[in-house]
Amino acid sequence: MCRHLGWLGESASLASLTLDPPSGLLVQSYAPRRQKHGLLNADGWGVGFFDDLSQPRRWRSAAPLWGDASFASVSPALRSSCVVAAVRSASVGMPIEPSACAPFTDGRWLLSHNGIVDRGVLPLTSAAESTVDSAILAAMIFERGLDNLGDTIVEVAAADPGARLNILAANGSRLLATTWGDTLSVLERADGVVLASEPYDDHPDWRDIPDRHLVEVTEQRVTLTPLRGSS
Ligand code: GLN
Repeated sequence: MCRHLGWLGESASLASLTLDPPSGLLVQSYAPRRQKHGLLNADGWGVGFFDDLSQPRRWRSAAPLWGDASFASVSPALRSSCVVAAVRSASVGMPIEPSACAPFTDGRWLLSHNGIVDRGVLPLTSAAESTVDSAILAAMIFERGLDNLGDTIVEVAAADPGARLNILAANGSRLLATTWGDTLSVLERADGVVLASEPYDDHPDWRDIPDRHLVEVTEQRVTLTPLRGSS
């Protein structure tokens, strides 16, 4: 299981969101607190953000986040109002390469998948960035449209009942997420909203999102909708 984080709010540095918090993605890469599958997240990382022209930008690597001195040096100077970041624990048999690390993109959205899915139930596509299950799932979600994210997840879960399908996506003005088999928490701060696989600190305002829900964040409003599954 990977760990991911989304931010929508005022401009914040990438370091303040990912490296600085006491239990942020950097620490989660070697000592996650709530990870149920896998022990650590050392198979790569990715940070995506929207620039001043609302273009998605990405920095991804197949090496552990804790060893990346370049990201540590530059990320305090990179700022954005909308961010999707992840550290990766590769599922068995999946490739270890930068293109297998979230966030994936279709040029408009950034998307991370925390979980696992049988690639055999996903539509064949040439649009996936990698052969990793998450990239093929991302291509399917982009193809169906993010407005149909909840329906797409319920459909994939029906085809693969063992799938875990926690998605986190952003387009610069919205965050969308699903919980299906793993943890997700939300923190509403004065300057924006954080969605994260697990809290990056012990602030009492963190709330856990129940399983099988769709979460939408727009300009400080957080909406939860139950997802109806077949089981
Ligand atoms: N299945 C995905 C991969 O192999 C995601 C794994 C995860 O959530 N740990 O990268």
